[in-house]
Amino acid sequence: MKVSELARSAPLPELGRAMHEFMADLFPLCRSITGDGLRETLRRVARVAPLQLQEVPSGTRAFDWTVPREWNIRDAWVADARGRRVVDFRESNLRVVNYSVPVRRRLTLDELRPHLHTLPDHPTWVPYKTSYYAESWGFCLSQEELDRLPPGEYEAVIDSTLADGHLTYGECVLPGTSDAEVLISSHACHPSLANDNLSGVAVAAHLASLLARTERRLTYRFLFAPGTIGAIVWLARNEARLPAVRAGLVLACVGDAGPAVYKRSRRGDALVDRAAAHVLGTRAGGGEVVAFSPYGNDERQFCSPGFDLPVGALTRSGHDRSDRHHTSADDMASVAPGALADSLSVCLDVLSILEEDAAVTSLNPKCEPQLGRRGLYRTFGGRADRAALESALLWVLSCADGVHTLLDVAERARLPFAVVEEAARALESEHLLRRGEVPGAGTGRGRADR
Ligand code: ZN
Repeated sequence: MKVSELARSAPLPELGRAMHEFMADLFPLCRSITGDGLRETLRRVARVAPLQLQEVPSGTRAFDWTVPREWNIRDAWVADARGRRVVDFRESNLRVVNYSVPVRRRLTLDELRPHLHTLPDHPTWVPYKTSYYAESWGFCLSQEELDRLPPGEYEAVIDSTLADGHLTYGECVLPGTSDAEVLISSHACHPSLANDNLSGVAVAAHLASLLARTERRLTYRFLFAPGTIGAIVWLARNEARLPAVRAGLVLACVGDAGPAVYKRSRRGDALVDRAAAHVLGTRAGGGEVVAFSPYGNDERQFCSPGFDLPVGALTRSGHDRSDRHHTSADDMASVAPGALADSLSVCLDVLSILEEDAAVTSLNPKCEPQLGRRGLYRTFGGRADRAALESALLWVLSCADGVHTLLDVAERARLPFAVVEEAARALESEHLLRRGEVPGAGTGRGRADR
């Protein structure tokens, strides 16, 4: 099965439920940018997609960065004078500032206060805090919980270790007939948060699982790595491979009810940018396209000027559109199977364009060929999209000068790419059309927007 056929036939409701269950299984693990929670997450991803785990030692340099010591945690709490846990890691791993150094101290509430983090604007939510690159410790709680703590003596315990070890990332490579690569990346370092970014991990893992069973022209490389440092380490270790990357998608925050949002690559005119803009502009569910910005996720590294990779980002509500982001309110209730399936479907539609786009040449370019005689209109009889398919026949023939591609036709005709591609196949079967070069081949760059 080709990727484009998969895009048309994938059982989306069933896949949505499977991704949601997969997230629920991963949700309790205490992930971080290193450590056993991340490792176990990647092992579970490997049950869905064929993943190779890589271990990079602490202290390894990667451009301006260094792989930090590995962090692991077993337990943590703040207990009151009677020994009752008033903040408890066992209740939620968000309760501890991620990467907290080990601590075992008795201290007064006032001494403890600088180590307690809340969200005064959302008094029932618990924030998600990290301290990867500055040694510190702390706890997170709701403002209401903090307000209820009486003055007095407390015990603060963080049973963690910060020691030389490894940073773990996972890579899944699905070779195609071409060496040209599509990079799909998802950060996997957040603890019990759902939309950011177990949703991205779930969609990427299931996308890889589906693509593994297709006939691929392009080679797909899936990267599951801790945010920022993971992408930086991967780039440092794969610099020689980067010219093969012809397109890419960073998947993050793809499980909420908001519309699909595509953020263009830094260059803005890559084939993946055009493909994603076309998909979101023509699909029933709609969507939004925004310009590149150096906020967000690992597109910041992939699109840095030294690489300038043609990599965009697919999100839904995203970090800048939801108060729930990086709080306990980003829980499993904030993501839905239907939204996960919709994001997966957007990915499949974009990848179908990357797979199928090609310049087309009419083999009967002098006046229109007589389509009725060849039964081409009859082929589409009874189809709900018959009018669009018939229109696409004429558009493809009209544009098929050996220069314009199927995506050019789809953009110009304002027809879904899948309809244009199907019309092209019908014309090919009647020997009226030939597909030529794949655009962008050899340069890694798509054509400029028109
Ligand atoms: Zn995040």
